[in-house]
Amino acid sequence: MITPEHLHHEGEETEECQTPRLLIVDDEEIMREFLKEVLGDEGYVIDLACSGTEAVTKMTEGKYDVVITDIVMPELDGLGVVAAAKQLPYEVAVIVMTGYASMETAVESMKLGASDYITKPFNIDQIRIIVSNTLEARALRKRAAEGEFYKELSRKDGLTELYNHRFFHQLLDTEVSRAQRYGRVVSLLMIDIDDFKRYNDSHGHPAGDLILRRLARLVKRSSRNCDFVARYGGEEFAVIVPEVKADAARRMAERVRALIDESEFEGEETMPGGRLTISIGVATFPVQAGSKSELLGNADKALYEAKAKGKNRVVVFGEEAVN
Ligand code: GH3
Ligand code: MG
Ligand code: MG
Repeated sequence: MITPEHLHHEGEETEECQTPRLLIVDDEEIMREFLKEVLGDEGYVIDLACSGTEAVTKMTEGKYDVVITDIVMPELDGLGVVAAAKQLPYEVAVIVMTGYASMETAVESMKLGASDYITKPFNIDQIRIIVSNTLEARALRKRAAEGEFYKELSRKDGLTELYNHRFFHQLLDTEVSRAQRYGRVVSLLMIDIDDFKRYNDSHGHPAGDLILRRLARLVKRSSRNCDFVARYGGEEFAVIVPEVKADAARRMAERVRALIDESEFEGEETMPGGRLTISIGVATFPVQAGSKSELLGNADKALYEAKAKGKNRVVVFGEEAVN
């Protein structure tokens, strides 16, 4: 799962706006100075480390975009630096430097997670290109991850982490169109908590929120991976069940109803019958509804009927209630 920590660091500008920071690691001073001069000309901020151990300290204390490390060094070698970089709480690309003689080590370092290698003797243009490509690839990956994160965030309901109302409509649009085009079925479950106002009145809104979260998890757990569970409104949930006919949808709804009925909820003794329960309305496209809006309307009508018939029950649109 992507978290915002992967994307921004508090109090900093976005990374693309910052000058890239490079750490050059080599036990030979002449090499460090040479690379510093070549890459410093490119406008990067350059830091130097004269051993693998110093590099690890600097990587932990500072924050770099790219680390360029020699492979052959006393004590902690380049492979050690690559391995240490992978353990950091931030993402850093590592480029290793190797002579032709130790090409196998370069391959090994790539397996460990190095992004590229530079061969000695150095070609200045090659160095510049490899570093700039590495930075570019890194920026692209970050932007993609960021886009995914915000896209997912915009689809979710903050309290329950289920899909929100807006995305539910988008999903239902897609699923109904698909069913229509390929001659398939899609069922819809509309779920509403029974007497939830009463629960809030006795235990307060925050306690009610906890019920909503728990209920969301239970409904989600009792549906398949290919079903879509959404928070439709305040205390209403909706489940889009592709490829499932009315009969099977009724059985699924009945299973969810029974699960909630049997689960114990904090403070439910104040509820009618001493239990927290839900009512469910079911409708199936295209049998009981010819369009998305009809499907929604009819599932809602079935839910209304379940309430009218005494709650804690499942009603399939156009059929008799069970229980
Ligand atoms: P019914 O059995 O007919 O569904 O009765 P009900 O009390 O559940 O229905 P009603 O529509 O009268 O009230 C819904 C209640 O749900 C009102 C409100 O206090 C509660 N509710 C809606 N959204 C939230 C929410 O986000 N958090 C909490 N804690 N309660 C909510
Ligand atoms: Mg309601
Ligand atoms: Mg209700």
